[in-house]
Amino acid sequence: MDKGLFIDGKWRAATGGATFPVENPATGEPLAEVASATPADAMAALDTASRAQASWAATPPRRRGEILRRAHDLLIEREDEFALLITREMGKSLAESRAEVGYGAGYLRWFGEEAVRIDGSWKVSEDGTARVLVTRQPVGPCLLITPWNAPLAMPARKIGPAVAAGCTMVVKPAPQAPLTTAALAGVLAEAGLPDGVLNVIPTADAAACTEPLLRDGRLRKLWFTGSTAVGRLLLAQAAGTVLRTSMELGGNAPFIVFPDADLDAAVEGAMTAKLRNIGEACIAANRFHVHADVAGEFSARLSARMSALTVGPGTDPATDLGPLIDERQRSKVAGLVDDAVAAGAQVRTGGRVPAGPGYFYPPTVLTGVPAGARIGREEIFGPVAAIRTFETEAEVLREANDTEFGLVGYLFTGDLGRALRMSERLETGMVGLNRGYVSDPSAPFGGMKQSGIGREGGDSGIDEYLEQKYIAIDFAEESR
Ligand code: NAD
Repeated sequence: MDKGLFIDGKWRAATGGATFPVENPATGEPLAEVASATPADAMAALDTASRAQASWAATPPRRRGEILRRAHDLLIEREDEFALLITREMGKSLAESRAEVGYGAGYLRWFGEEAVRIDGSWKVSEDGTARVLVTRQPVGPCLLITPWNAPLAMPARKIGPAVAAGCTMVVKPAPQAPLTTAALAGVLAEAGLPDGVLNVIPTADAAACTEPLLRDGRLRKLWFTGSTAVGRLLLAQAAGTVLRTSMELGGNAPFIVFPDADLDAAVEGAMTAKLRNIGEACIAANRFHVHADVAGEFSARLSARMSALTVGPGTDPATDLGPLIDERQRSKVAGLVDDAVAAGAQVRTGGRVPAGPGYFYPPTVLTGVPAGARIGREEIFGPVAAIRTFETEAEVLREANDTEFGLVGYLFTGDLGRALRMSERLETGMVGLNRGYVSDPSAPFGGMKQSGIGREGGDSGIDEYLEQKYIAIDFAEESR
């Protein structure tokens, strides 16, 4: 076993000694054997988190903030080490992994600063008979379930606010990429996080481990980032204990280019919005809607840029685009492309699964993608730009909103009125306006519709981990 469970500040094997393999997606070869938590181990983690809750909630906010700041500094000092780990288990290029270290650490710094700004209020009641004191308290032990696509940033985005708010937690990382999360737990412990506050339970059987926790009344909060399908399942389970839930789910982002857009900026934005994380991002541009007047030029320029990229193992410094996470994901991407082509789309570049080891898929541009094609309805999670044309603002708005998802939309236009109109009318939690990148610790990240509930980051991010408590105070007159 290369990595254990982290419970009560100690690394240990799973009960019964079970492990599961983690693969290097660039080669398909095993990278490590990781302890696979059992339901009993998961319960031991919740026992520990519950025991630690009261003293952690009473720990001064300044101290909680300083631990997060120290953990941020350690991550930045060890950027190369963490970047290599991310690349080895998840596949993205080293440059992208370094960016993830900065981004993930940024959430620890941001919430370290928020820890000392948890405020309350005091006012006179409407009828003047009482005083209204409002305080905010940590919600209590949390279960944080994370995906594989950003194995440092996804847990950091949850651990940061939970630590800042005074909550203890059990983290269940994705089995495809649990090593970075384990290393992050090590850094937080080194930064001074007390034993029991953060527990990590990698497992090959997520459902078996999380079900008993979701039934246990000591658990007070579930934060899940992953697919909408699993999110629905967990919401149904959470109903049993009326658990507070926050969900960051799937996306189907429209990327809209109007004829008055700066095309240089639009192509640059498309490269970022489409190819960041090899397209394996919930905020990846999934559907390109380009006005008919500029579609030819935009498609040609995007195809030229995408076909010039170097695909290879993320550890090679020359690589722009690493492999997809596994064969299942690659087959899904290839299947969506084949389906679109069968329905009449044209391949401008890419579109063929390469021979050889690893789960590589080439940067691909499709034009003439017909309305209703599966590739426009499902999350691609790969480096494929599917382009359709439009004629009017009303038409593109209708198409953009015609999905159960609502995470982010990208808009490129030089017309201020159109920019604001469209931004207001897009049914998404976030809009990238003349910009292909919206991730930012100081901004509220999250979706509408079936893309989620709640926000990570920004001024309101910490609220997801706090309960409001109102105390009604009687101010009776002094009796004479
Ligand atoms: P997934 O839903 O398959 O898995 C996510 C996590 O849930 C993993 O840890 C997995 O082990 C666990 N899980 C799976 N089934 C479970 C069950 N029955 N009970 C409890 N836990 C279970 O998603 P994934 O493939 O790891 O990640 C990709 C998805 O995540 C995409 O849909 C993507 O859009 C989404 N995502 C969303 C955001 C966001 O902020 N909105 C960010 C990153 C990824």
